[in-house]
Amino acid sequence: MAVIKIPNNKTPIKEQDPKVRAHNFKEVVLGYSLEEAVAEANRCLQCVNQPCVAGCPVNIDIPGFILALKNRDLPKSAEILKSYNNLPAVCGRVCPQESQCEGRCTVGKMKAHEPVAIGKLERFVADWEASSGDVKIPEIPTQKRGKVAVIGAGPAGLTVAADLAKMGYEVKIFEALHAAGGVLMYGIPEFRLPKSIVEREINFIRSLGVEIDTDSIVGRSITISEIKKFDAIFIGTGAGTPSFMNIPGTNLNGVYSASEFLTRINLMHAYEFPYQSDTPVRLGKHVVVVGAGNVAMDASRSALRLGAENVKIVYRRSEAEMPARIEEYHHAIEEGIEFHWLTNPIAYIGDDKGNLTAVKCIKMELGEPDASGRRRPVPIQNSEFTIEADMVVEAIGQTSNKVLLSAFPELKLTSHGYIEADPQTGQTSVEGVYAGGDIVTGAATVILAMGAGKKSAVAIDEYVRSKKISK
Ligand code: FAD
Ligand code: SF4
Ligand code: SF4
Repeated sequence: MAVIKIPNNKTPIKEQDPKVRAHNFKEVVLGYSLEEAVAEANRCLQCVNQPCVAGCPVNIDIPGFILALKNRDLPKSAEILKSYNNLPAVCGRVCPQESQCEGRCTVGKMKAHEPVAIGKLERFVADWEASSGDVKIPEIPTQKRGKVAVIGAGPAGLTVAADLAKMGYEVKIFEALHAAGGVLMYGIPEFRLPKSIVEREINFIRSLGVEIDTDSIVGRSITISEIKKFDAIFIGTGAGTPSFMNIPGTNLNGVYSASEFLTRINLMHAYEFPYQSDTPVRLGKHVVVVGAGNVAMDASRSALRLGAENVKIVYRRSEAEMPARIEEYHHAIEEGIEFHWLTNPIAYIGDDKGNLTAVKCIKMELGEPDASGRRRPVPIQNSEFTIEADMVVEAIGQTSNKVLLSAFPELKLTSHGYIEADPQTGQTSVEGVYAGGDIVTGAATVILAMGAGKKSAVAIDEYVRSKKISK
């Protein structure tokens, strides 16, 4: 039997030096050159059973786009990618590939081999297409099939809108904030996902004919009865309400939720205050970030870039349970973020002026598995200690955005306050109303939100067509 010989490791990718990048907001990963991308594409075995495709929630023809790249046919590679994914440059940068496409890659299952760097190749092809100045816009049917309202311009809403526009629908997105993109714009920092990339891919969606009304809060400035005039509705309002530890001292100056901290930095450009932005952000010298997900990594690395002398992440479980993307964790370590596992804050301590001075913590140990299947952290008695801190950022999770839900009481919610929807179609308890993304699943990932948007686009099309036939 022929022995397959391919390099064990992914083709290395250029990155900013950790010492330099810890002080700037420019993108950390610099991307592949054409030769590097082709070398990496050559590691793909073109597996007949395509396990990687099943690992991608939007089922991109991964071997197909990689083969075209290997043959240096970049327009074809981009065309294949774009026919499945409206936000490829975003996904190539932020998908947790290790648990999705790359987690299923055959090469990664071979002894001592890393999987094919699918995400980095996707990013390369998407960036190449944009820089070529020849972005192909698919032909849009002129005969319109109907009108659809989309609430929320995050990855779920943008995906459903783009797919419906391609099918020939007039689509209007209502977005509460002054910029479209959802978490891509207000949550994930510039050094991981440059805003110009998000804007570029949103402009592609606009070029399909999708209208985006920003500063439009459905349930406040736009009423539900206005929205009900459309043939169908998709709700993709996300999970943007921060959860709090609710421990003593939460009201001290210097205690932030990650949502507020990151929104000030990303959406309001607080790091350019006062010269180019009028939104300030508190600059802590000794910063503690609570949590170990992507949000915590983003908050800690942003604090470092703002000038913190030291940044500590405290997490009540161990490294093995950490939910962050592995790449971000490694980048955080390289930049000097300190990790304190099995540690939980129990109080914030302040001075007589109400400013935070320290975080009182307790050591934890892992007990029996809880409902999530992960071992439950249990406090160790008499193990309290304090960490000096003038700033704390809580990044312990988010819950559903409530404005729309309270204005739309007919929608059935789950016991956790998310919209109840069919996982295959997004159909809610109200006819003609579909939902997907974090507002259904709770805080999850960009590509899962996009996958939900794709399924709902198909279901909405079927619904609107059947409604028109029966009229
Ligand atoms: P969102 O992105 O939250 O978008 C919802 C949109 O709806 C928002 O723009 C909001 O303003 C709007 N909206 C809300 N209410 C209304 C209303 N009443 N009227 C009009 N508009 C409304 N995932 C990854 O895959 N990789 C990562 O690296 C990653 N990092 C993350 C880092 C941070 C800091 C955060 C917070 C999340 C991260 N995630 C990551 C998770 C991911 O971003 C989300 O799962 C994804 O954005 C969910 O998409 P969505 O469209 O459901 O909601
Ligand atoms: Fe992998 Fe995400 Fe690209 Fe799908 S969209 S192939 S999961 S990086
Ligand atoms: Fe290529 Fe890996 Fe997919 Fe096989 S599983 S086709 S090697 S990317």
